[in-house]
Amino acid sequence: MSLFGTDIDGGLTLARRVGQKYRPVFDALNPKDRAALAWYFLPHRSGKPVVGVTRPRILKWYCPFADQQQFSSGHRYCINVYVGCGHGCEYCYAAGYEPDEPNCKKNFERHLLRDLEDLDNYNVPPAPVHLSNSTDPFQVLEKQTWQTLFTLKQILRCRRRFTSVVLLTKNPSIPAEPQYLEILQQLSSLPDDHPSKQPFEQKNLPPLRMEVSLAFWQDEVRTFFDPAAPPVNERMEAIRKLRAAGLSVVLRVDPLLPRSPLPNGKTLADFDLPEAQSLADLEQLVAFAAEVGAMRIVYSVTKITQPRFKPLSETMQKLKQAYEHLCKPQRLTFSGGSWRLPHDIAQQYVVEPFLDICRRYNMPATYCKHNLVSTP
Ligand code: SF4
Repeated sequence: MSLFGTDIDGGLTLARRVGQKYRPVFDALNPKDRAALAWYFLPHRSGKPVVGVTRPRILKWYCPFADQQQFSSGHRYCINVYVGCGHGCEYCYAAGYEPDEPNCKKNFERHLLRDLEDLDNYNVPPAPVHLSNSTDPFQVLEKQTWQTLFTLKQILRCRRRFTSVVLLTKNPSIPAEPQYLEILQQLSSLPDDHPSKQPFEQKNLPPLRMEVSLAFWQDEVRTFFDPAAPPVNERMEAIRKLRAAGLSVVLRVDPLLPRSPLPNGKTLADFDLPEAQSLADLEQLVAFAAEVGAMRIVYSVTKITQPRFKPLSETMQKLKQAYEHLCKPQRLTFSGGSWRLPHDIAQQYVVEPFLDICRRYNMPATYCKHNLVSTP
């Protein structure tokens, strides 16, 4: 046994203490892998009878809040390279728990290296890694600190420990730069001794996918909802470069918003909101995805997230009023810190007209949660 213990029996003893919401992931594994997961994710010295997946410093459990019975994200990692995000999107779901000002993490590089070393020490089986679910890994900070570049180099060095590498951004111009492209291209193939090489090849799955958010066709609308994110044309140009370099791209037309007419003869203008996603605009986005050969489109419906320690912005208050009008006589649901349209209303007014366009263009479209859990 090493200093902390890495034997299978010790790992299995630790795994028996894992909280119910993570248990399905551990129970599905063979004893050797279950023990490895326990050593990596669970605190070794906790005196608590029930423990969570809180041990890693940077290379963390994908979504520690989620109950695996309801959201079966499975064994996958998330690296939030930065804290907070500078794009300042009105609808930001991370605003409910992230600080306003984007920043770097203290000792990021050192902690990431220690986590990667632990994956080897505990011989943890490979799993997908996502950058990032609460920040943009290619926001302006990246031009000053290159922490995402550092992270990608380390993932490449430890490629055997990961299956899919997924990068989500509103700023594809940075990864389209030559120094990033070179690494991304190398990450796009699995080494010959990788345990997932054959299944990925047989199913024609890309080991790296670039997920680029482009929810608006009109740049005036983009400045209204994503004020500090890159302009539409810039993102399109960068997507073309990523595709020309042979990278797999998923276009995230995400989040989706309602459009006029609303019930009872109202329009979005009655709520002082722009027509952000007319059907003609959505068609342009879908046509662009088809033209560049995107793997698929990913979408979700805008949630109205209550920001941390402050009121809803004026824009989101207006959107909430429009939502309340849209769902009458039903009411908005509130869960996970956000107001949401009831499912049937969201499908009728927001999602179905969009899916009709995707079908016309033969463009596969996947709800964001399904996209995530189906990424191997
Ligand atoms: S890019 Fe994502 S994380 Fe950043 S502000 Fe926008 S929604 Fe939030």
